[in-house]
Amino acid sequence: MSGKRDYYEVLGVSKSANESEIKKAYRKLALKYHPDKNPDDPTAEDKFKEAAEAYEVLSDAQKKAQYDRFGHAGMGNQGFGGGGMNMDDIFSQFGDIFGSAFGGGGSFGGSRGGGSRTVRGTNLRVKMKLTLEEINEGVKKKIKVNKMVNAEGVTYKTCSTCNGSGRITRVQQTFLGAMQTQSACNACHGAGKMIDQKPSDADAQGLKRKEEVIEIEIPAGVEEGMQLSVTGKGNAGAFNGVPGDLIVVIEELEHEFLKRDGDNLHFDAYVNFVDAVLGESIEIPTLNGKAKIKIDAGTQSGKVLRLKGKGLPRLQAYGQGDLFVHINIWTPKKVTKEERELLEKLRTSENFIPSPDKSEKGFFNRMKDMFQ
Ligand SMILES: [Zn+2]
Repeated sequence: MSGKRDYYEVLGVSKSANESEIKKAYRKLALKYHPDKNPDDPTAEDKFKEAAEAYEVLSDAQKKAQYDRFGHAGMGNQGFGGGGMNMDDIFSQFGDIFGSAFGGGGSFGGSRGGGSRTVRGTNLRVKMKLTLEEINEGVKKKIKVNKMVNAEGVTYKTCSTCNGSGRITRVQQTFLGAMQTQSACNACHGAGKMIDQKPSDADAQGLKRKEEVIEIEIPAGVEEGMQLSVTGKGNAGAFNGVPGDLIVVIEELEHEFLKRDGDNLHFDAYVNFVDAVLGESIEIPTLNGKAKIKIDAGTQSGKVLRLKGKGLPRLQAYGQGDLFVHINIWTPKKVTKEERELLEKLRTSENFIPSPDKSEKGFFNRMKDMFQ
């Protein structure tokens, strides 16, 4: 996926490291690269985030197991595939590790830079069901969300707890000795503002709930479980802050005929026995209509035909998967007297006695050919 460093390498621990070793390694790095301790080193924040991300995964048994199996590629659905963790996530994680040494607990945490900060709203998650046809083309969808928005008519004044600075400074004894720590003001969550006047429908943070219709563009090729993030379409931030993101979780609806396997599609075709013997063209469903394929005379059951480029488009890449047509010879489940008479004549006819030669490949050889 990216040039991401191995999480174990980032924390400097072995794959067999236990929970407390992982925690210890992270504490060390977090203290070393804490942005407040490295104001002149612009790379410190990146290293700090990198360590936090590694810890986030390796400290969680389930995520760790997934990472051990699939590496970074397996972490695609963990929410920090793109931009990494943000500082709020990191500081909220600190509660467990450092107690209150760094302060800033709670969802509005953070103790970076000086002065008040803009409070970011929470992310909003919605599920979106898509058909394979929609996934094939890419689609624009309108969805209704019930979210927090800034209420009209709210006025603000300077926070009286922190005098507008948004933070509270304390000197605290930690295992590194005395450290001056700053934490976000509890009263204003770091915004430095508080509500002066508000209409009755606004809550204590100046927000209210509202239904909104949002149009979302889904790119072609998405898959079940993928998360798309629409910046700024989540819940509004408290005290007139910035909105969070809207996270769209993709759900794939089962197709009536076609089965998906990554970019490829599979279709089970049932072919009349006579057509298989004499050859015939058959029509098969595709994601954008139908396709005609030729069944050669003498086609065996289990044969797989490959329609190049009739699969799904690759997400954010060139190319298209294929459609594999699996030929099944249909055996009649009942026959009329007349049909029986015809078939009885064929039963012992020379060409109807099975005599597979080497060119009649078995199932496993066919699978091998297919995935070459
Ligand atoms: Zn305050």
